[in-house]
Amino acid sequence: MEMQVVQRARETFLTRRSRPLEFRVQQLKSLQRMITDRQGEIATALKQDINRSQYDTPLLELIGLENEISLAVSKLAQWDAPRPVEKSLLTISDQVYIQPEPLGVVLIIGAWNYPWALTLQPLVGAIAAGNAAVVKPSELSENSASLLKALLPRYLDQELYPVVCGGVSETQELLRQRFDHIFYTGNSTVGKLVMEAAARHLTPVTLELGGKSPCYIDKNVDLRVACRRITWGKFVNCGQTCIAPDYILCEPSIQNRVVEGIRQTLLEFYGPDPKSSPDYGRIINQRHFNRVMALLDGYTAALGGQSDSSQRYIAPTVVKDVPPYARLMQEEIFGPLLPIVTISDVDDAIHFISEREKPLAIYVFSSNKKVIKRMLAETTSGGVTVNDVMMHYTLNSLPFGGVGQSGTGRYHGKHTFDQFSHHRACLVKSLGMERVNMPRYPPQNHQKARR
Ligand code: NAD
Repeated sequence: MEMQVVQRARETFLTRRSRPLEFRVQQLKSLQRMITDRQGEIATALKQDINRSQYDTPLLELIGLENEISLAVSKLAQWDAPRPVEKSLLTISDQVYIQPEPLGVVLIIGAWNYPWALTLQPLVGAIAAGNAAVVKPSELSENSASLLKALLPRYLDQELYPVVCGGVSETQELLRQRFDHIFYTGNSTVGKLVMEAAARHLTPVTLELGGKSPCYIDKNVDLRVACRRITWGKFVNCGQTCIAPDYILCEPSIQNRVVEGIRQTLLEFYGPDPKSSPDYGRIINQRHFNRVMALLDGYTAALGGQSDSSQRYIAPTVVKDVPPYARLMQEEIFGPLLPIVTISDVDDAIHFISEREKPLAIYVFSSNKKVIKRMLAETTSGGVTVNDVMMHYTLNSLPFGGVGQSGTGRYHGKHTFDQFSHHRACLVKSLGMERVNMPRYPPQNHQKARR
């Protein structure tokens, strides 16, 4: 079944149907129409999947996606045009340029936490670049996956952009097929399997993975504002955001005030009982619920800590004085638990971050320019936002992606188009001016050089 879908996509790609710019624009506009027409159904599916607030779905997924589409539609001709490059003396009268061209049939494997953005945003770039694309949404967000499977063929070319639903075995079957690029979003264990499968066909990959994104709070900062921004980024989508601040680093002298700032903000956001707030989500499934709860074992929460397994509810939770090598600090939390680790100063914070894996994001809160400059210069991460969280993700002019263990490759805006294009080196010469070429032909001797 999967084999036939991929085969059909390849045959259709070879007819060149996906190549004309007018076709790509028409498909992108149709995708835009799908989002506009079906916004209500999409929000309902997410409500069922993770109890996402109806208000958050446009804000967190759909607006960004619509921006990506309108940018691609308006810039496509420019992105696709040959890009002239510098010439040498020997090629001065030639045409020398880089021509973006589609890779062929690509596979997009999405994750469940933002199931629409994480499958359709890569798809926008794949279509814009002229590819065929097989879309594999995550089986965990099952309502979103089946809605996507029902909707996409009604709006897009079915042969070029098929949706394959299913779990591990279906994905593994897909991964046995030969693709021209694989774009995977999810955890790094599966990321390694994807890369292994891709290696068998020498297929290039983009891996959008996760990890522990640190959030450093300097003592010299407006804690009220910092805590509001951090609380939003950490607890939105019930902590299930790849670039959520995973843990806080701060000096012991401000730890209690940080906790107090978060407590006040939580009250503002979700009221005294987050469980009954329409704005507070749930954990995706029982396995993840158990995993997140197990991380909390042995700790006394400074805030929150309550849970209800029947609803997969975990209260927004803050844990103080977490030892640097505790289990809570080993793996990505991906849930509503916020550990605070105390460090002695900014040097200690930089050291703490640098001796761990390169994170997907780093957040720095400080009003001290020197501290900000040092944090930027002496750490590395996929992206960084200073004095806020996650905002670097929202700009399609910035490449989004990880580095090292947090991923490879980048996307958003033109970066997605480039990720799904081959940048072909082109040199077009005329058959004239042969004299200029004589020195490179054998035999290489003095006489010839003098001729
Ligand atoms: P998931 O369980 O939905 O898995 C992602 C995809 O991998 C799914 O389509 C699934 O079918 C497939 N898959 C799962 N197991 C597989 C296997 N054994 N073989 C082949 N395919 C398999 O999502 P997840 O991994 O739980 O997602 C959460 C992780 O994703 C977190 O680590 C998070 O940080 C990361 N993430 C990263 C980004 C990003 O943009 N960098 C975005 C969202 C999530």
